Amino acid sequence: MARDTSPQCKQCRREGQKLFLKGARCLTEKCGVERRSYPPGEHGRGRMRQSEYRQQLREKQKARRYYQVLERQFRGYYDKASRQPGITGENLLRLLERRLDNVLVRLGFAASRRQARQLIGHGHWLVNGRRVDIPSYQVRPDEVISIRADSKAADVVRSATELTAAVPPWLQADHDSLTAKVLRLPERGEITTPVAEQLIVELYSK
Ligand code: SF4
Repeated sequence: MARDTSPQCKQCRREGQKLFLKGARCLTEKCGVERRSYPPGEHGRGRMRQSEYRQQLREKQKARRYYQVLERQFRGYYDKASRQPGITGENLLRLLERRLDNVLVRLGFAASRRQARQLIGHGHWLVNGRRVDIPSYQVRPDEVISIRADSKAADVVRSATELTAAVPPWLQADHDSLTAKVLRLPERGEITTPVAEQLIVELYSK
């Protein structure tokens, strides 16, 4: 399973905002963005030339990093979104939002997408009673997500639930039994990802 192994705090600093890639650490004063609010690298504190292309590129990179998806896979999501009826940008965000690793974070069952991917990859999660070990699995309405009965990760998952204040209204979570249900597909207003998706559509449709 290919993944981006570059330092996560540097990814946030490059995008100029917190992307919450490290779970509990992101909520402390050790956060890289809190400590150094300028981009990484030798010229990080220099003047940055702004252009339309740069803005579009940064927005795409931000979305990619937020969901921890590689370029080829991200482009695949865009192509799929553009073939669906409706607004391409919203379709794109909805596809990313429905990834099982993201859903575990939204439910409070993982502190970060990286942790969610690891738990899924190691077979700790079931969807409708069947083991799913693919982090990009797209959840559907009425599916039930649960931790494997004999999972040794239950304590880790329980401590992750303490970081989550609220679950989005398209999902329902039971933090005691570590089970959840997908009630419906998410609306754009319910997706809190800090991304202007229209800029991504403009970039890819050039
Ligand atoms: Fe980003 Fe979290 Fe690192 Fe802060 S601590 S820079 S939010 S990954």
